[in-house]
Amino acid sequence: MRMIRDIREMQLASRAARMQGLSVGFVPTMGALHEGHLSLVRRARAQANLVVVSIFVNPLQFGPTEDLERYPRKLEADSALLEAEGVHIVFAPSPEQMYPAGATTTVHVGELSDKLDGRSRPGHFRGVSTVVAKLFHIVQPDYALFGQKDAAQVAVLRRMVRDLNMDVEMIVAPIVREADGLALSSRNAYLTLDQRRQALVLQRALKQVESLAASGERSPEKLRSAALAVLASEPAAALDYLEIIDPDTLDPVAATTPGALVAVAATFGTTRLIDNLLLPRC
Ligand code: AMP
Repeated sequence: MRMIRDIREMQLASRAARMQGLSVGFVPTMGALHEGHLSLVRRARAQANLVVVSIFVNPLQFGPTEDLERYPRKLEADSALLEAEGVHIVFAPSPEQMYPAGATTTVHVGELSDKLDGRSRPGHFRGVSTVVAKLFHIVQPDYALFGQKDAAQVAVLRRMVRDLNMDVEMIVAPIVREADGLALSSRNAYLTLDQRRQALVLQRALKQVESLAASGERSPEKLRSAALAVLASEPAAALDYLEIIDPDTLDPVAATTPGALVAVAATFGTTRLIDNLLLPRC
């Protein structure tokens, strides 16, 4: 496994691979890797000849009062995990290389960037789309792997790829969870034992919607109220949003809900967690 920190070196490595006819699969991450990230790596391995994983805690997607400084950084342990998964290249640039003084160009996906997490985290999706566009230009992947865990991010990036005619196929993999249902997240490390238990309410709320929808309930309002009632049963959960929306436009769905996205965000202590579920199409 090769560790590359220099942007030009990464571009040349990718170009060389493509000239040999190899396909490139790419998994962008912020590190502190867990099984959710590794599921994307395995998918990339199955899909492409050369697998590149980036580890970059992107300052542009953090708000001024958010956890940029304390976000876990574990490059050594992450590298060992990636080596064991058969990853070919880890790309870990410095913030100074990614954003040299005077860098003023950003990518903004209009409208979608102001919904869900974008509403509570102004500028977050501009940071995400900018860094992913830059990483695509650096790594030049044929396939890019993302987790359904970040459902709004998936919508924003799909739109960016479409609108800017980026020559990359986006593949979205399912959410990986702990045995008790908590969605894996690098931020779970911030939770106390109590908060970790309280955070299970997110999964309970989503399950409530899933089971009501499975028994025929089609009213988004009723499904939403049922989920809100579950969330209210856990006073430690400070709700940010719970929405039943179209997964591509992120707008609330009207009467029927098959294929709809149920997305939730709440804060436990100082830790903001997100989770979601796609209702089965029938
Ligand atoms: P992050 O390091 O948090 O930026 O995440 C990197 C990628 O891993 C993103 O595409 C995430 O959606 C994905 N990811 C994070 N957590 C999970 C999870 N529990 N299951 C599946 N994918 C995940």
